Amino acid sequence: MARIALCAEAVAIGEMGSRSRDMVDTIVAVISPGEDGAPQDVHVVSPCGMCRELLSDYGPGASVIIERDGRPVRVKVESLLPDKFESGD
Ligand SMILES: [Zn+2]
Repeated sequence: MARIALCAEAVAIGEMGSRSRDMVDTIVAVISPGEDGAPQDVHVVSPCGMCRELLSDYGPGASVIIERDGRPVRVKVESLLPDKFESGD
């Protein structure tokens, strides 16, 4: 990934507004090989570490659809970020 790239999850959270929490019910990100790619080439992408933290901050309790063993599964965002850093504010 290019250093200036921005993940879709971060863009979605920014579009929803960053001032309120509990805005995310369920989120899924997918990747496609491009316009020439076949629909079966679309894959669920697990959120990166930064997005996991953003999602847990702005959507505590939210569900995230990830891929396990080639199948989409719904998990709670907290399960993707064990021992999360807490600033204490
Ligand atoms: Zn990300």
